[in-house]
Amino acid sequence: MSRFFSPKYSSLTPYTPGEQPQERKYLKLNTNESPFPPSPLAQRLARDAAGDCQLYSDPECRALVNTAAESFGVEKENLLFTNGSDEILNFAFMAFCDSEHPAVFPNITYGFYPVFAELNKIPYEEIPLKDDFSIDINDYIGINKTIFIANPNAPTGIALSKADIEKIVASNPDNVVVVDEAYVDFGAESSVSLTKKYDNVLVCQTFSKSRSLAGARLGFGIGSKELINDLNTIKYSTNPYNINRMTMAAGIGALCDKEYFEKNCLKIAENREQTRRELQKLGFWVTDSKTNFIFAKSDKIGGKELYLSLKEKGVLIRHFETPLLKDYNRITVGSKEQMEEFIKTVREILEEKQ
Ligand code: PMP
Repeated sequence: MSRFFSPKYSSLTPYTPGEQPQERKYLKLNTNESPFPPSPLAQRLARDAAGDCQLYSDPECRALVNTAAESFGVEKENLLFTNGSDEILNFAFMAFCDSEHPAVFPNITYGFYPVFAELNKIPYEEIPLKDDFSIDINDYIGINKTIFIANPNAPTGIALSKADIEKIVASNPDNVVVVDEAYVDFGAESSVSLTKKYDNVLVCQTFSKSRSLAGARLGFGIGSKELINDLNTIKYSTNPYNINRMTMAAGIGALCDKEYFEKNCLKIAENREQTRRELQKLGFWVTDSKTNFIFAKSDKIGGKELYLSLKEKGVLIRHFETPLLKDYNRITVGSKEQMEEFIKTVREILEEKQ
């Protein structure tokens, strides 16, 4: 730490992103990326946009907003695009939380929430999940705090129904409920339609997973016009040109190529179910994930040991060395071939242990 670093931030423990190794080629199942490349249309539009990069991008993202409004069946004023969904989540912490509106989220969820709370000096509460790793919605009914719920949750993969989300939203009319739908396209129910009925719900989604654009950094929020205006105040006070031209073009391409998107989501869901069955056959306990990852543990091998053994054999998965998660691993669902390779390697490791 330099002697210039503000004490405001010096005690901050930053978020640890999953490994992005450059030194060796791994079968990479650790950061929930798509195994499929971006849609050919997204790639072509991004390439075309590269030639105009001497000009600033449109801070209002009009072309992208128009396409998305049609795609999601909402009005343009209900949408805000950000540099990955991490950015809109941070904006939501900044805009809707303070000491009178502390944040609340499950104790097992996306690891960035406590970091955003700490960064913005927001008090927060973490509510334990049930023993089966599901969220007890009763814990959030009328809680009178700004609620952050990843639905489906990460890294458990378990989803709540829209009806359950609605109960939480309806019972907290004076607080914002942020529903982080980063993984919703792989089999969960979206709460986007609730944004038309309630002015206190913000749904966040990303192009990083189901639309194969993790490296382009594109996320968005859908909410009432007033919530979006508030978030725009934060955006225009930090980085008005937060979406670059190539990403904006790629986003339009990804939305227009609906067939490619739907086909890929279906493949991932199929590969997930197949891998789940294979892991169960090998004795693993696996949650009912509705995402592009699997959350699993085995009595035959510890979480860290499996992670390290797989890494040695060239397969990367995500291990969280925290008291609540250390027995488990999170495995991104890749292509059919990748998952066959993964299962084969796990089987080898278990055999070698005998
Ligand atoms: N929410 C959840 C639950 C996530 O797992 C992630 C991915 N790490 C994000 C949001 C952020 O994704 P991105 O910034 O790539 O849109």
